[in-house]
Order: sequence, then structure tokens, then C-alpha cells
Amino acid sequence: MDSLAHKWRAEQQQWRVQGLSRSLESLDRVGGEGLRFRDAEGRELLSFASNDYLALSGHPELRRAAVAELGHSGVGAGAAPLLGGERPVHAALAKALAAWLGEEAVLLFGSGYLANLGLVQALVGRKDRLYADRLNHASLVDAARLSGASLQRYRHGDPEDLARRLRQGGGGRAWILSDGVFSMDGDIAPLPELLDLARQYDAVLILDEAHAFGVLGEGGRGSLAHFAIEQPGPLLRMGTLGKAFGVYGAFVAGPQWLVDVLRQRARSFIYHTALPPALAAASLAALTLLRGAEAERRHLHALRRRLREALPQGPWLPSESPIQALLLRDNGRALAMSARLREAGFYCPAVRPPTVPAHSARLRITLSAGHGTAEVDALALALQSALAVS
Ligand code: PMP
Repeated sequence: MDSLAHKWRAEQQQWRVQGLSRSLESLDRVGGEGLRFRDAEGRELLSFASNDYLALSGHPELRRAAVAELGHSGVGAGAAPLLGGERPVHAALAKALAAWLGEEAVLLFGSGYLANLGLVQALVGRKDRLYADRLNHASLVDAARLSGASLQRYRHGDPEDLARRLRQGGGGRAWILSDGVFSMDGDIAPLPELLDLARQYDAVLILDEAHAFGVLGEGGRGSLAHFAIEQPGPLLRMGTLGKAFGVYGAFVAGPQWLVDVLRQRARSFIYHTALPPALAAASLAALTLLRGAEAERRHLHALRRRLREALPQGPWLPSESPIQALLLRDNGRALAMSARLREAGFYCPAVRPPTVPAHSARLRITLSAGHGTAEVDALALALQSALAVS
């Protein structure tokens, strides 16, 4: 053990020197809702880091639904879904999610990470071919590795590179894996082109809508609605309940056969404890609010445009989502910017490798419908002065 501890202490020191060390910080929520938090030094910070895009995580309706279900079902589900952990509220949530998306069926998972692992592992065989966008979320990358299939990573958001690779062909079935909205850049996947290629090469597209559901398209129905695609063809979708829904958990949506297969084969589904029923109840309440939140979505997208217009010369990455990234490249610079923003009262963390590719450290700003225009203006001013000195 001593040599192991020595090795990892030395490694930790290296990470510190390179500006790559990660620390875990508790932020205490101020007032139980909204986006204000207090750090360990007692400083109040307005968060621009949360994926709570519609500010639902503290919403009174979600609280009421969760508390009512707590009174009825208790805290934990107590078992795996297939071994007695499934409650009526889980089934009601799955049914409501499927109806919202116009899909035949939905299967709930404990988290988005588990959903991606289970979906890919259950369907993709060792002899198949996976084509994955280079900037996909880590859970899709891990899922691809777990499947044992051959994996090619195509250039980010580049259907031509994907087409070139698909043309080369190979054995087994072809699968395309992509985020709908990329979690660290915020740009939207070229869905019409990906679906065309899937049709052309008899492939299936697995789309991770973690940052798209609730945020994009009419009714918050995500990337398909954003592009007004009505007949998507070979598409399977995954969504999370921990972002725009403001809760926790995830789901896979698609035809009935898909849910039947996942129930039978997805190991991360079969062997996990069912979602706490109170969270399923809160998610159900969130879905009702989220479907009708057109004004909030308009506000959110107006905030995005406002931020960019206030700082037109910033090193922004292209993005039409609430995820707005300032590409600083250098780890130290990203950390310094984040520290300056904290001094100005904003929580806006630096994202560094390996979460993003080497030399692409950035400030990842996420906007929420819970932010006001004056708050976004104040952030833009703080960013401007921090950029000038960092
Ligand atoms: N996919 C994407 C694109 C994500 O950003 C995340 C969360 N960061 C996940 C999947 C994992 O979801 P969860 O947090 O529910 O495990």
C-alpha cells in the first residue's frame, strides 16, 4: 500500500503543477431555490454552472410532488425495478415521457451515465461498428468501449468525415453515436445529416438528448423538434432527468421492442436500484411544467443572444444552446478567469482536460431561465474585465 500511496501522491502533485487538480467544493443553496449559493468562505455566488436550465430544481410543484410521494412510498425504492422496486409512479412517469415524445415506450434508468451504458451494451454486438462523434459525452465513450465493437471517432460535427468512414463499410451492423447538444461546447449535432447517413448506410443513430430535452424545440422535445423532423427513421434517444427536469435519473425512449430488449439485457438497468419514487413523482411534475415552458425557453435563448452580443469579441465557441464556452486554452488562464469571476460574485468553473481535449481549457457558462437579464449583463461586464487582465 505504501508504494501505491506514494505513486498517487506524486501524481496528485503533478496534476496540481499542471493546473489539472480537481477539488470538490460544497456550495450551500441560498433560499432553497434559484441559482444563488454560498461557498465555504461564506461568499454568495450566482451560479452560471448549473444544468438546471428551466430553474425547476427548487420549484414548489416539484417539492410538493416529491413530498407527497415520500409520505406514500418512503425514501428508497428498496430493490431493483425487476425485483419489486418499481412503483406506480415509475410507470406513470415512463408513460408520460413516451406520450410527450410521441414514442411507443420509455424505460427509466438511475442516471444518464447508466442509461448510455445499458443502451449501447444491450444492443451493440462485438462484431458491430460504432461511429462516434469525437466530442461525445464520456458515458457514450465508455459505453462504446464496453460493447467491445470496433470504434471509430469521426471529426466533431462533421457528417462528411462520418460518411467517408461509413463508406469504407465492414462487418456487422453500423451504429452512430452522438450527443444532441454537446455538453462542453454547447453546439447542436447536425441531426438531419446524421439521420440521412443512418438511412443510407442502414445504421441506427443513438442520440443523447441530455442537454436538448426541455431546452430545444416546441414543447422542449429536443433536437428532433428543433429541426422539425417528423419521420426520423432509425433513431433511439436517451434523456436525463437531472438537467432541464431539475431532478435526477434518466430514460431511454423508442419503440416497444427496444424497451423489451433493454429490460431483458441492459445490465445497468437490471442490476440497479430503481429511482427513488419521490424523484419519479417530482420528474412527473417537472414534465408538466417543462412541456408548457415556452416563455421560459424564449427567455433562455434571449439570454444567450444577449450574453454574446454584450461580449462580441470574446473567444466564444459556436453554440445555439444555453451552454456557452469561452475557449481560453491554457489551464492556468481558465483557472485565473474562474477565480476573478468568483471575486465578482459569479460561480463559473474552469473546465480542463481530460474533460475537454488537450489545450482547450475553457470557462463553461450555462444559462438558465432562472437568470434575469440584469444578471447576465453583470456577468458580461465581469467577463470583460476578467478577460482584459487574465
Ligand atoms: N450525457 C450527457 C451529454 C451529459 O452531459 C451527461 C451529464 N453530464 C450525461 C449523459 C450523464 O447523465 P447523468 O448526470 O444523469 O448521469
